[in-house]
Amino acid sequence: MTLIARKLSKILYEIRAAELHAQRKIDSVALLAVSKTKPSLDLIQAYQAGQRHFGESYLQEALLKQRELACYQITWHFIGPIQSNKTRLIAEHFSWVHSVDRLKIAQRLSEQRPAHLPPLNVCIQVNISNEATKSGFSLAELPEVIEKINCLPNIKLRGVMAIPQPETDFTLQREPYRQLYQSVKSLNRPELDTFSFGMTGDLNAAIAEGATIVRVGTALFGARG
Ligand SMILES: *Cc1c(COP(=O)(O)O)cnc(C)c1O
Repeated sequence: MTLIARKLSKILYEIRAAELHAQRKIDSVALLAVSKTKPSLDLIQAYQAGQRHFGESYLQEALLKQRELACYQITWHFIGPIQSNKTRLIAEHFSWVHSVDRLKIAQRLSEQRPAHLPPLNVCIQVNISNEATKSGFSLAELPEVIEKINCLPNIKLRGVMAIPQPETDFTLQREPYRQLYQSVKSLNRPELDTFSFGMTGDLNAAIAEGATIVRVGTALFGARG
């Protein structure tokens, strides 16, 4: 068993434990393996241990790995910041985008999604801690943004993604996720089934507050250099 395989089973175990603890359904939380900056060989180790969903933040690096790993049945998620001039390649080469932080980006992704592919699964990035430096829509903008993105033909709006300000205290970690989860639920839109919440440092808090996808890099592949 490789080190990555051991770490993968440890994370999956933690996820299951957190689901139980939060009285969530078993398997209601999926693991997205965040492989940015890591070599294709690391992804293969995780793949051989059963992982299928991988998240990347840097487009050129991701496209290179996609070519190297073309024989594997990987579902690719884009989770990084998006410049307008990158939308075409993202629309062509990914199944999911978690980091839609402007309407213009959503419009371009829809226009540029190739007709032979299914609609692109999209999460709206919400700037939940309201940090000026972080991208994302505010909670107040959310209802209108959801309306507009829902009208785009080649996008399937799945839910929201958040990267709150890092906290070490469990209660403080939960607070922004709780707020965002409640806001989305209050809109009564069952098609919004995805809460992309939580990373290595706040996995348990995110699952306690409704995460359906946790994005884990460091705990699986080690620290990034
Ligand atoms: C890098 C990254 C992660 C993974 O973070 P870790 O702390 O290494 O688990 C998750 N989400 C996003 C958007 C990232 O950029």
